Amino acid sequence: TSFAHFGFDEQLMQQIRKSEYTQPTPIQCQGVPIALSGRDMIGIAKTGSGKTAAFIWPMLVHIMDQKELEQGDGPIAVIVCPTRELCQQIHTECKRFGKAYGLRSVAVYGGGSMWEQAKALQEGAEIVVCTPGRLIDHVKKKATSLQRVTYLVFDEADRMFDMGFEYQVRSIASHVRPDRQTLLFSATFRKKIEKLARDILVDPIRVVQ
Ligand code: AMP
Repeated sequence: TSFAHFGFDEQLMQQIRKSEYTQPTPIQCQGVPIALSGRDMIGIAKTGSGKTAAFIWPMLVHIMDQKELEQGDGPIAVIVCPTRELCQQIHTECKRFGKAYGLRSVAVYGGGSMWEQAKALQEGAEIVVCTPGRLIDHVKKKATSLQRVTYLVFDEADRMFDMGFEYQVRSIASHVRPDRQTLLFSATFRKKIEKLARDILVDPIRVVQ
């Protein structure tokens, strides 16, 4: 597979060319067409596999389709991950590729300023990258709303479970409308992750790196 097979438009292709990636990684070859089709997906992949772009590129296509239909406030895509560092990395990638369409991303994570994050959320963004507890705090304070979210990603789910975020992960999933598309990434596929996938995904396709 080459990047041309994904059918991305010229704006996004230009951004990808700027990255100087020569070809899609295996998780991108398998995952991108599935995510573009609108199906739920489980990606068993580690850091370094190119998994971030595998969910960001289809996310951008999804947002551009959805933006026309869904007026209103709040993000259209939410990416939930375990740590501040990962949050910042994913946010950087969202900005890099989201630039192609003028899309805005906000990162909210534990340890950062609640006030500054709330301000950024209220200024508006189509994409929110977050750690679980902090997103819930902002929703409770009404700094943002999940009502417009139709693309939901849980990255490094096994690590979020190890860090004790299972309750928060499930709570976020239950507060996003059921007609969403959900993608779950995990380095391992243990029993608890399998159970989570059964509970929050609909008829998912599984992709192994
Ligand atoms: P990730 O697994 O998403 O953390 O990505 C690991 C690294 O691979 C990041 O620095 C990406 O910028 C880079 N990367 C993502 N996709 C590709 C690709 N198709 N070719 C080369 N590098 C890539």
